[in-house]
Formats: sequence, C-alpha cells, structure tokens
Amino acid sequence: MKEFYYVNNDQTKNPGLHHEVHTEEHAKKLNIINKSYLGYYDNCRDAVKKAREIYENADGCAICCPLCHKG
Ligand SMILES: [Zn+2]
Repeated sequence: MKEFYYVNNDQTKNPGLHHEVHTEEHAKKLNIINKSYLGYYDNCRDAVKKAREIYENADGCAICCPLCHKG
C-alpha cells in the first residue's frame, strides 16, 4: 500500500535522537507539526533513502516503519 511519508525535523523527540521517518497517518497521530514531506512511496526504504538526503541519520519509526527501523 502506498503511503505519504514525512521526516520529523525535530530529532529530540525520540530516544535515539535521530530524525524519524513516519507515515502521514502516524505523524498525525503523534501530532508532529515540524516535519518535511518526503513523497508517496510503497515502502519505507525509499522514504528513508529520501530522508537521508536531508538528514544523514534519518531512520524509520519503530511503530509505523518497523522494517526500516535500525534503532
Ligand atoms: Zn511512526
């Protein structure tokens, strides 16, 4: 299923202190205001790859992108 993906611009809100990638749905649920749109992808890997063009340490969210979560 294709999803809209966002990266959190505020890296201080998660334990690993990296910029987390979320689906639109999860970003809304977490009420993340300060985020950058990454694109519309059918997998989180492409979204994280895109996010890394902005933030070198971008990582998938453990909840909505578990396959792309490295910790
Ligand atoms: Zn998430």
